[in-house]
This record gives sequence, structure tokens and C-alpha cells, in this order.
Amino acid sequence: MFKNAITVFRVYGIDIRLDPSWFIVAGLFAWSLSVQYFPGILPGQSQLLYVTLGVTAMLLFFGSLLLHELAHSVVAIGFGLKIESITLFIFGGVAGLKDEPDSARHEFLIAIAGPLMSFALGGIGLLLGGFLGGAGSIPAAALFAYLGTINLVLAIFNLVPAFPMDGGRVLRAAIWHFRKDRVQATTVAARTGTMLGYGFMALGALSFFNGGGVSGIWLVFIGFFVVGTSRAAYQQQVIEAGLKGHRVAEVMTPAPVSVDPAVTLEDLVQDVMLARNVGFVPVVRDGQLLGYIDRHILHGVEKDKWAVTMVADVYERATPENTVPPDFPTVELVQKMTAGAPNKFLVAEDGRLRGVISINDVMSFVALSQELA
Ligand SMILES: [Zn+2]
Repeated sequence: MFKNAITVFRVYGIDIRLDPSWFIVAGLFAWSLSVQYFPGILPGQSQLLYVTLGVTAMLLFFGSLLLHELAHSVVAIGFGLKIESITLFIFGGVAGLKDEPDSARHEFLIAIAGPLMSFALGGIGLLLGGFLGGAGSIPAAALFAYLGTINLVLAIFNLVPAFPMDGGRVLRAAIWHFRKDRVQATTVAARTGTMLGYGFMALGALSFFNGGGVSGIWLVFIGFFVVGTSRAAYQQQVIEAGLKGHRVAEVMTPAPVSVDPAVTLEDLVQDVMLARNVGFVPVVRDGQLLGYIDRHILHGVEKDKWAVTMVADVYERATPENTVPPDFPTVELVQKMTAGAPNKFLVAEDGRLRGVISINDVMSFVALSQELA
């Protein structure tokens, strides 16, 4: 997600990034405020004033979104979690949490910080609007009254208990707190999120066909987003629950075929890879694990050199980045794989090869244990 986002500045050690989708929304938002909203509530003013108000309101609104995300981030950092970036995109902001909160209380406080910030900004906006209106500055009053209202809407909308929205995280924290079970809490919160996501889509479609226009379509898209992310969170939870307590030794492919470093690549391909249907081969000499060779490494060597190149010349050495012990927790290995580590690992003990493990081994283990449970 957000591969094309650009970093605009850094605050508190956090990269503030804009996804390209943000520019579309920002443009549409400023445009609809300038030609519709402000001319509607402040008739008879100049075009320049409407555009100025529209653009200012758009910038201040995205500033509010940023403060909402920063509130989550500052609380999370206070609890020792890492936040690398905040990305503003089409549906608002996302703070990139590197790890999960370690207690229900922390999760609750991190989740609630954002809506509290939005409530506070909403209150300030409405107060400022009232004050400026009393002082006779009508356009500025309209601007701040608008910002106050939209921040209140944002706070309330974010509290809808649809995981991964803030309200869904609050729900998860509450179940986690009372049932003392994070896995069950995520399952319930993610299911609720999926149902509410479908609800958003239905409501959005209904509103669109009854003349609700853009806001109806918007709700449909948010529904898609919520369903997608809550399902992904649920699936990850199912996988983690299925693997809980299982060591790598139970899930790996044991005693895999290996190759000696003094073999040519041509012989490796013919006698091992094609003959045994494997694309990932550990390199072993005299019972000692040296590393591995795979299809990607072969692709880096020109085919007409395969007959004269030895495995020893090109294989990848075994390191803690690609090798785990047999008693390693499988859940942690999957977390490594999803965090961008390679999706195949060597399994070794005292320098001796015990097996290999890939994401496919993990998935088939989860499927089998569910089927037989
Ligand atoms: Zn939030």
C-alpha cells in the first residue's frame, strides 16, 4: 500500500507522506467548497473570496487530519512503539505502526487519541467561528464553523466500530481487556468491521440512488476499504491462531534434497531441480550446511555459463537472515516473511540442515490443521 506516496516533511521523527490519491481528493474538495458550499452559505461575495475560503478550508482540514494521526502516533511512541510514517490518502490518514500494542490498555489509548483530538479541534473550530461571527468577521466565521463541524463529523465517524477504524480498535481493546484474549478480540472486531463495511456499501448505494450524489459513492468506497482491511486482519489472525505454539520443525519440509558446492549449475538444474521438482536447494558439504541456491540466483547467471559455473561460485551463504533453528516459533517466522524477509528459510541446528520452510508449507499446515480440527 502507498508505494507511490511522497514524503513532504518530517515531524517528531515521523515521515509525513502524501499518496497521489490525496491530490485528487484535495482538488475535488477545494473545488466543491469554492463553487458550492461557500457560495451557498455566503451569497453575493466575490469569486476570489470563495476560492480563498475553499482552498484554506481544504488545507486546514488536511492539517486537522494530520493532527488526528499525530495524536495516535504520539501516544503510541509514548508506549515505546515505532511509527515510521503518516500517509494521507483518499480516505484520510494512516499512521504506519511498526508493531502491535502489547496490552489492551495501550491499544485503547492509542485508538482513542485520534478521535479525542478531532473532538477538541471541532470544539475549537465552533468556538472560533462563534467568536469571529460575533466580531462581525462573517467569512472567517463561516470557515471556522465549517472546520469545527467537519472535525466533529470526523471524530464520530472514526468511532464507528468497524475495524481497522479507530472505533473498531477501541472495540478490540475492550474485548481483549474483558476476555483476556487478543486473538478472539481481533476475530470479533474484524467480523464486525466486515459487516459494517457491507453496511456502508449498502447505505452508500441507497443514498446514491436517492440523489445523495458523491457522498453516496464515497461511502461505498469506504465500505470496500473497510471490508478489505478487516478481512485481511481476520485472515492474518486465523493464520496466527492456527500456528500458535507450533515450532518451525512441525511445519517445515524435513530432510530436503541438497547439493554439493562442487557441482556445476547445469548438473544442478538437470539432476536436482528438474529431476526432483525443487526451485530452492540447500548447499551442503560433509554434512555441514553452507547456504542455498535457488531459481533467482540461477537467473543471474547466463545460461551458456551454467556448464562451467560451480554452485560454490554463486550460492547464498546461510546467515541469521535466511536461517532459523527448528524450535523457532512459526508465528514469528511468518511475521518476518510478511515484513519483507524472503519467503523461504533454511532450518538448521548446530550447522546441520534439518529442513526448509516456505510460506506454502505454512499455508498448507494451517489449512490441514483447520480441516482436521
Ligand atoms: Zn484515527
